[in-house]
Amino acid sequence: MSDITEKPMPKSDEEWRSALTPERYAVLRKAATEAPFSGALLHNKDSGMYACAACGNELFSSERKFDSGSGWPSFTEPADREHVILENDTSFGMRRTEVKCKRCGSHLGHLFDDGPGPEGTRYCINSTALEFEKR
Ligand SMILES: [Zn+2]
Repeated sequence: MSDITEKPMPKSDEEWRSALTPERYAVLRKAATEAPFSGALLHNKDSGMYACAACGNELFSSERKFDSGSGWPSFTEPADREHVILENDTSFGMRRTEVKCKRCGSHLGHLFDDGPGPEGTRYCINSTALEFEKR
């Protein structure tokens, strides 16, 4: 496990804007959704860890990744439930559960209840919100 406290995080919106690419800023800090089937990590089958692209917090393991057909990287479970926050999201007239990084509060994607695992959970995550570390 890497030490997630090693580097200081941006605090203001301006700092986030300069620390991230425009695409990542829009998704992570403004809760935008990338176009389906556009993400670089969508079809990634390598073994490793998917970390928050904003702060490096370890979020999802390749062991829980599956092809949902939705067009976004999908996971049945986070690597550690303590590393994510789940919040009610009623934007766009829908009732959804938003998935955020617990460490930096960045938007990652949404949680749905149609997953293939025993828990039935599907974490639908923007590829651009993730940084993959091959192991
Ligand atoms: Zn983060």
